[in-house]
Amino acid sequence: MPPAPETTPAYQDVSEEAFTARIEDLRDRYGSCDLCAHECGVDRMAGETGVCGIDTTPRISSHFAHRGEEDVLRGHNGSGTIFLANCNMQCVFCQNFEISQQGRGEPVTATEIAEMALELQAQGCHNVNFVSPTHHSPHLVEAISRARDRGLEIPIVWNCGGYERAEIIKRLDGIVDIYMPDVKWSEEAAARRYSKAPNYWSNVRESLREMHRQVGDLEVDNNGLATSGLLVRHLLLPKHVENAKQVLSFLANEISEQTYLNLLSQYRPHYKVPTDERFSDIDHRVTPAEYQAVLSHARSVGLERVEYDAAMAGESVSTFLG
Ligand code: SF4
Repeated sequence: MPPAPETTPAYQDVSEEAFTARIEDLRDRYGSCDLCAHECGVDRMAGETGVCGIDTTPRISSHFAHRGEEDVLRGHNGSGTIFLANCNMQCVFCQNFEISQQGRGEPVTATEIAEMALELQAQGCHNVNFVSPTHHSPHLVEAISRARDRGLEIPIVWNCGGYERAEIIKRLDGIVDIYMPDVKWSEEAAARRYSKAPNYWSNVRESLREMHRQVGDLEVDNNGLATSGLLVRHLLLPKHVENAKQVLSFLANEISEQTYLNLLSQYRPHYKVPTDERFSDIDHRVTPAEYQAVLSHARSVGLERVEYDAAMAGESVSTFLG
């Protein structure tokens, strides 16, 4: 069995009444959906769909102990990952497009999601990691409530694309332990072109401030496992060094120099990119020079907790600054 959590997840202290109020508040939003920054206004309860392309029935593509996540999440036994189908982002390079864009997954209820969370905990996973959670926030909060009542006691990870609304994030206060947004864009044109996410930068900045207000910098226990806080990913894209630098400057200057950042190097051209000439500018991998320029910027702006690809950085062992 894994070591027992050294701190109590926030949701343990939420009363039944407070959980019910949050669930009802969020569920009402399905009726004129504004759960994400698209604010489509469609009635998903009546079967209408917006940009994310799904009504109110969540679909799950898989749930398993993920051993490829950050060390602070996977530990020895894996991060208890629950992959939701569909997504509120429409990234043309998505490596999981069959799930995110084509909806591959099985329909489930909140009770069934709660059972998956408990099953992952029983397997020894160190957390429950909801991937692409935003468009089904109401069901997920209900699932957390149900699982809590049946003994869930590991942290909740909100593994999202960053195209959130701070108003909705506020409703997760005290329920989510670890926010893990992949902050993709600071440049508006790129956000529209590659992810169909207008006003991404203003929305993600506001949402990050709210996430950090709730949970603060990432806390790691004596076993090296994340217990709460903000963990930011940034997937560096080819020819987007300036975009990345602006993201990192914002984190250092307006969130915290202690922000835990994972600077991802694994971009590959997927989905539409290899076959659509409009995206030929990103039809190749990131170069070491691009990666090193961004890593150097992380150092220069004072970020102190950066997980990075040592091979791409031209270094041998360290994966941390500071
Ligand atoms: S969750 Fe889906 S329907 Fe709702 S606002 Fe976002 S994209 Fe539109």
